[in-house]
Amino acid sequence: MHHRFIRGVAAALLLVAGAVSAQDFSAQRLSDEIRIISADDFQGRYPGTEGEKKTLDWLQAQYEAMGMEPGGPDGQWLQIIDLKRLTPKGLPTLTWSGATSQGRALIAGTDFTLRAMNDAAAGEVANAPVVFAGYGIHAPERGWDDYGDLDVTGAVVLVVAGEPDGELFNGPYATNYQSAAYKADEAERRGAVAVLTIIDGDAGASAWRRETGGATRTRTLTPGSAELTLSGAVNRDAAAEMGVDLATLKPRLQTGDFRAFLLDVRITAAAEETVEILRTHNLLARITGSERPNEVIIYSAHWDHVGVNENTAGDDKIFNGAWDNASGTIGVVEMARQLKAAPTPKRSIVFAHMAAEEMGLLGAYAYVADPVYPLETTVADINIDMLPLSGPTKDVPIFGKGQNSLEDDLQALAEKEGRYVSDDGQPEQNFYYRSDHFPFARAGVPALMPWHGVDWVEGGREAGLAAWKAKFGADYHRPSDEWSADWDLRSAVENLTLLYRLGLELANGDGWPTWKPTSEFGQVRDRSAAARQ
Ligand SMILES: [Zn+2]
Repeated sequence: MHHRFIRGVAAALLLVAGAVSAQDFSAQRLSDEIRIISADDFQGRYPGTEGEKKTLDWLQAQYEAMGMEPGGPDGQWLQIIDLKRLTPKGLPTLTWSGATSQGRALIAGTDFTLRAMNDAAAGEVANAPVVFAGYGIHAPERGWDDYGDLDVTGAVVLVVAGEPDGELFNGPYATNYQSAAYKADEAERRGAVAVLTIIDGDAGASAWRRETGGATRTRTLTPGSAELTLSGAVNRDAAAEMGVDLATLKPRLQTGDFRAFLLDVRITAAAEETVEILRTHNLLARITGSERPNEVIIYSAHWDHVGVNENTAGDDKIFNGAWDNASGTIGVVEMARQLKAAPTPKRSIVFAHMAAEEMGLLGAYAYVADPVYPLETTVADINIDMLPLSGPTKDVPIFGKGQNSLEDDLQALAEKEGRYVSDDGQPEQNFYYRSDHFPFARAGVPALMPWHGVDWVEGGREAGLAAWKAKFGADYHRPSDEWSADWDLRSAVENLTLLYRLGLELANGDGWPTWKPTSEFGQVRDRSAAARQ
């Protein structure tokens, strides 16, 4: 992806900028509205608080004033989301028996961790077979298959974290296959009852201490995630005792000819959780299409931020989240205002303000788990998280470059402005997995997430990148992420204009954006191809 050819900048085309659109985004208006919902009285917009209510009331008032229709379930503005927060109840247990040992009891926190991250908030397995599945990856588009023909129904599956190195798995950019959530999905799809990740370190290793620290914390269940009976981890020594010697096996896992195998042990284990419900809401508004209303383009942005933290050093305890993501929220509101003023499109356009993104994209996961509009006829998701704050830029970076054809549509529009689409340039940030476009992608809906240009028209790339890194380092997820009258929203206006044209083009067309053959999300979309004839 880094070596992808980027088409040249055609300066002459700058002259036609603006000639093809009737929209009129205003930097001043963006600024004024960002200021409102990032003010101290919104208390950092944490889900389930007064700050949520103020935010959603304000958004609803904007849409009502525009004459927009409610876009949520049953003609409502709000989609209710009951998040389950799980906390371990007592210590989990895990014993194994095999040729070398009978009833070998492992020690919680020292040898293993275990959670019942499921709807029942409890789980046990008795005398279950145990399989080692390497990375636990099945990637047909890459010719990769760790499971082979092995049946893992009813089994506890051991996997190692991460993914194979090298270009096959996107080089420096991570693929979805490295995520624990993917591995859990794949194991569940094959009928496994539990997944244990082998942490490549002994009980004293820092990676193991991180694992055990996290395992006792309250965690929020991701809506629509794999319903495994149990999930957790074992350290390298505990895995070796059960017959997985990572030192010997690891080189083979990289080659592509490793296949899962059954271990000569059986596991009996149990864990239980207490449950607390956190109620929050997505807010949705809609323009109903004139010809094919069931085909939907979604603009999404998360309204939430991280709230107030009394333990924060200094006097300011409020995480205002002006950039993250009051700015993207207002981007979607203003997008709606502009599109409402355009002639009614053939397809419907939905403006989705997602909840609990900062808790793990949970509002968007809840939406795709229980979509208001069928995912198979959802044309695309265009997600806006943190508007760029700079003067004009030549580049329009996107997360996940190389994934789907929306980037080609965007490139065609950018080119007319003398701009170009690029990758985000920061593989170490794993940006593709960090905003609400991702749950859509994972569910097969082509999704696009534009980011901040750094190739400044005035000043060039070096200055742009330095300024961006300074701003991100200083304010990202800090109380200092506050509105300022000094914000330069010209590049935000530029990007919103492009996204407006893209959305309108999709909404008046009859094409379906597609995943590229190398994308891990194409197979999910293919399963519903019949709905898009
Ligand atoms: Zn954030």
